[in-house]
Amino acid sequence: MLLTLVHIGVFGLFHPSKITVRPGSAAAIICGSRVLEGTQTATLGLSNLETRISSPSGGAADIVLAVPGRIERLYRGTALIKTVGEELIAVIEMDREVAVASIVAAELPPGAPLEALKAQAVLARSFLAASPPRHRDFDFCDTTHCQFLRAWPNPGQDAYRAASETRGILLTYRGTAIAPRYSAACGGHTISSEADEPGSHGYRYQSVPCNYCLRHSAEPARGHRLGLCQQGASAMALSGATYREILNHYYPGTKVTDFHPR
Ligand SMILES: [Zn+2]
Ligand SMILES: [Zn+2]
Repeated sequence: MLLTLVHIGVFGLFHPSKITVRPGSAAAIICGSRVLEGTQTATLGLSNLETRISSPSGGAADIVLAVPGRIERLYRGTALIKTVGEELIAVIEMDREVAVASIVAAELPPGAPLEALKAQAVLARSFLAASPPRHRDFDFCDTTHCQFLRAWPNPGQDAYRAASETRGILLTYRGTAIAPRYSAACGGHTISSEADEPGSHGYRYQSVPCNYCLRHSAEPARGHRLGLCQQGASAMALSGATYREILNHYYPGTKVTDFHPR
């Protein structure tokens, strides 16, 4: 199976000068020239100019990275940690599908209906495929600037299922994948775009009504109100809509296209 890899910059908000590394499972990992097993931890600082972390064979591994006292996270992939100026930049190279599942898990709360998760998975994959480069040292960061991304979900979790059941499916406009915008709550109607949004490849967002938000008019809009409304998408899924119907509603004029025929 062909893997599409993405490079995600993590922990950038913390501007770390120290990052610790340890295995995230029983399997050993390689950190630079060291082998780490069990609870063995390596500490990288600004004098470690460039350190690659992987499985012993050089492939993806379960890796726990931490900024001591601030944040600790488990990733699946390979990692490159390098010194740029006065901080360490941590970049995880991961299978795009792992990133899709991770984004879905970060974007929607546990218990969100599966068809809404699948719609979100298509949006995340389309964003990763179609967004213009946004950083110099990696493709995307892990904040809302690019895509929210935390630890990746377990294969048993719905976010993982949403990614695998929509594998290869992208939101397209005139045959080209677009980097779709979406927001948390639209307030009743989404809005139309005045100008070309980055990665939209000519697609202009249209204002569409959102039944859930119209019925809950006391709830304020959250986000820029372009494209899918996450609250409305969950409500549509609960009332029986498929992810394709959800996407067709919030992105009129686009197509849900399968690039990975099963
Ligand atoms: Zn970013
Ligand atoms: Zn809405």
